[in-house]
Amino acid sequence: MAPTRILSALADLLWVPRCVACDSFVTLAGGDSVYAAFCPVCIESLVPAESPRCPKCGLTFDGAGKDHLCGHCLADRPAFSSSYAPFLYGGALKQAILRFKYRPAPWLSTQLGRLFFGRDGVPLATPDVVIPVPSHPSRLRQRGFNQSALLARHAAAVYRVPLDTTTLRRTGEAMPQAGLNRAQRLKRLRGAFTANSTSRLTGTRVLLVDDVVTTTATVRAAARALVSAGARRVDVLSLARAS
Ligand SMILES: [Zn+2]
Ligand SMILES: [Zn+2]
Repeated sequence: MAPTRILSALADLLWVPRCVACDSFVTLAGGDSVYAAFCPVCIESLVPAESPRCPKCGLTFDGAGKDHLCGHCLADRPAFSSSYAPFLYGGALKQAILRFKYRPAPWLSTQLGRLFFGRDGVPLATPDVVIPVPSHPSRLRQRGFNQSALLARHAAAVYRVPLDTTTLRRTGEAMPQAGLNRAQRLKRLRGAFTANSTSRLTGTRVLLVDDVVTTTATVRAAARALVSAGARRVDVLSLARAS
């Protein structure tokens, strides 16, 4: 094993605080704050997802003004009630999320999970249950883990509510979404999820967790399945909102 790999493996074991994006060592000066996860250089590239934004899907708008529904949500109201992400997808956060997708070190999971709650405290009302967006079974076999489930576990612990990784399931084959436009993604993902209707979802408030929300096609389809199975309300929590 190369010396740097050995050092990196040791650092994982010893929980030496490192930047979640570039791996440089960081001091604990930031304490528990969201910014403790990143080194000073990477912090500079974080862009908070601030108002004005769509109160439904979290899409941000350029310029100043009040929050208002975006064109997509006006034309096609999602089954979820709200969607929150602390940051926009890009820069060091994108780098960190991509790293996490392929190497789910526990410290990355902890530090990224903290980002949910770092900027605005605990942003959404306490749910009855936390449910991650499931991976395709084939992808799960390939990677051996579902990154959204690892993040959802952190959220469930913060809210002190159960984590449910079995009720919501993905159906169909895993097909790459990259290169598809919004309409194509929405069409492809329609009916891509099923939720066990004999489950205990009836009347519950569900927090649906995904790592990144892009076109909302995935969370729209997942939320629809949850509501069909009896959920009273679904809110979406993600690390980053891509526009
Ligand atoms: Zn860094
Ligand atoms: Zn919207």
